[in-house]
Amino acid sequence: MSSFNTNKPVRVCVIGAGPSGTSVLRAFKSAEAKGAAIPEIVCYEKQDVWGGLWNYSWRTGLSMNGEPVHNSMYRHLWSNGPKECLEFADYSFEEHFGCAIPSFPPREVLHDYITGRVEKAGVKHWVQLNTAVRNTTYNEQTKQFTVTIQNTKTEQETSSVFDYVVCCTGHFSTPNVPEFPGMHGFKGTIMHAHDFRSAEEFKGKNVLVIGTSYSAEDIASQCYKYGAKSLTCSWRTAPMGFHWPQNFKTVPLLTRIEGSRCVFKDNTSADIDAIILCTGYKHHFPFLSEPLRLQTANRLWCDSLHEGVVMMTNPRLMYIGMQDQWLTFNMFDAQAWYARDLILGRLSLPNQRTMASEFRKWRAAEEAIEPTDEANIRFQCGYTQRLIDMTDYPNFNMEGVVQTFLEWEHNKHVDIMTFRDQPHRSIMTGTLSPVHPTPWLKATDDSIEGYVGKWKRNHNKL
Ligand code: FAD
Ligand code: NAP
Repeated sequence: MSSFNTNKPVRVCVIGAGPSGTSVLRAFKSAEAKGAAIPEIVCYEKQDVWGGLWNYSWRTGLSMNGEPVHNSMYRHLWSNGPKECLEFADYSFEEHFGCAIPSFPPREVLHDYITGRVEKAGVKHWVQLNTAVRNTTYNEQTKQFTVTIQNTKTEQETSSVFDYVVCCTGHFSTPNVPEFPGMHGFKGTIMHAHDFRSAEEFKGKNVLVIGTSYSAEDIASQCYKYGAKSLTCSWRTAPMGFHWPQNFKTVPLLTRIEGSRCVFKDNTSADIDAIILCTGYKHHFPFLSEPLRLQTANRLWCDSLHEGVVMMTNPRLMYIGMQDQWLTFNMFDAQAWYARDLILGRLSLPNQRTMASEFRKWRAAEEAIEPTDEANIRFQCGYTQRLIDMTDYPNFNMEGVVQTFLEWEHNKHVDIMTFRDQPHRSIMTGTLSPVHPTPWLKATDDSIEGYVGKWKRNHNKL
């Protein structure tokens, strides 16, 4: 890959202004603040605000402009992992909120934290909102991309040429929707987690949740919290393994539906009012020409990417945040700093053969991970540390992150309904978080004022 230090101006296109895209913007700004010359950066974002999935929208299906709604979050969503494991190394929660806050913030609080960092960095002028990327092609001769965009309000299309493309469009927005026999005749509601907006509508209902990962766990818990009559959790590979409340039932995979009766692989059945498919999402990049599209499953070591970032068949194309995620915001930062330093020519790539052999080594290591949460967490933390070691992203105690994840896992297995009531210690500041006075199961105020205002008031009294 040619270095940034050439005479021609270099142009970088960032697609998406969610946490991954804003990490890239922040990475370049941080280099500029230290005196580096940086390329021209343009970030296209199809929504009318930045923040990615952390923007809640009541809409499902299509937006007002006919765009697929990106949002997969719901009204009462609180962080499912401790905020201490995702904290930015260069911007702590305490710096942002002016005081320590509890460990599992509601969506709005995390949205404020993510966007607050980049508001302060002064990078908003790089972002073109209401702008969907429609097509991206690569010219082997010029070694440049042509990116075609459309203004989602006026529908006007234009094209621009870039030297690098960094794709930050996430992979939890296009639902994976399997079909089960009898679905077309089901008498109740069927929806995918992508369209789940509020648990209140399932009050008094018998709900079947299919899947065993975070959406299944959290949507089932939400429905319980907001008064569902019963929860039936259906697994394909293995059950979730938590100690669920008494109105939960764990069953193997759904095999067929007869009216409102759902029949499972062990021939047991249940009368169900609503089926929620928590069956995951697809990596989906229709706005890139076929050879540029990342094709991978949701896994820790994605197909086709060198260091989990660089498209091996076209190293001028990079992807941020495409892995299955234990770490999120600070891993996106580590990837963004790495991508930035490749573009700035501070780092260089090995040749194709070496990249291919390194890929095989990492893939083999991923496939050899013991089937425990700890082994998976350690793999992703080790990967993130490796990237941090290559750049000037602030180092932090990664073993502390691992230990915090393990405390969290332990708390979940003690009681899946109370793990969010437990405090964790910030790796970045050393502060133990305060405990929220209302247990999560009883807390119905998800607002930033309700969650942070309280801590600010208490903090000011000290
Ligand atoms: P996204 O947040 O998806 O952002 C991608 C952006 O790209 C969006 O703004 C989108 O509008 C834009 N975009 C897409 N296509 C185009 C296009 N063609 N042109 C222009 N712009 C485009 N992580 C946690 O750490 N803690 C949690 O508690 C947590 N909860 C979650 C709950 C749910 C229901 C889901 C689905 C995910 C959750 N996550 C959580 C993980 C989440 O993936 C990350 O926190 C984070 O949002 C990923 O950031 P991203 O920027 O990679 O992708
Ligand atoms: P996911 O982690 O990819 O899990 C997909 C699930 O779907 C797996 O359990 C898988 O089962 C199952 N599945 C896929 N196809 C199936 C089929 N045909 N039949 C039956 N089961 C099938 O997706 P996710 O749970 O939606 O999580 C996505 C992201 O959202 C994660 O990053 C998560 O952290 C986040 N999230 C966070 C919160 C929160 O509280 N903040 C809430 C929800 C989601 P197998 O194991 O059998 O493959």
